[in-house]
Amino acid sequence: MRATKKHRTVAYHEAGHAVMRLELGRRPIHATIKPSLATLGHVRHRRTQLDLDYFDARDWRLQRWAETEVMVSLAGREAERRLTGRKNNEGAASDIEWALEVARKCEGERARAFVSWLKLKTRDWIASPLVWMQIEAVAGALLERETLTGAEVREVAYAAVRSQVEGGA
Ligand SMILES: [Zn+2]
Repeated sequence: MRATKKHRTVAYHEAGHAVMRLELGRRPIHATIKPSLATLGHVRHRRTQLDLDYFDARDWRLQRWAETEVMVSLAGREAERRLTGRKNNEGAASDIEWALEVARKCEGERARAFVSWLKLKTRDWIASPLVWMQIEAVAGALLERETLTGAEVREVAYAAVRSQVEGGA
């Protein structure tokens, strides 16, 4: 597949979501650039409405869940932004919507501040060399193969880290 600029942007976006999941200790799920290119929509989150329905903001585990969920949602756009130097495409709208929905459950009227804070945190994580290197590796694999299973995402990301550690030693 010839990688157009658009392909690359979408690949980095999806790799951002995928690597952030891994970094935050979530089970990796499959990542693809195929439906995104066709619809500019996004499918990669397994969004469970159930989680939100039972949300209790006093429970720290759920707080932690919400924080992770928001960071994973924002990571697509932030990875794109780091690649292109520009803010976002229209495909990220559903990511932001979801982040705000989770934030409202968790923080009520403080939702926007919560999301803004996590946006900065996500941006910093993505800028760290070890994370960015994984995003580049996963994006590269997506451009080659279009779709990666969760296990493949992990494999590609860890291989990138390993080669860095071994190469640097
Ligand atoms: Zn996205």
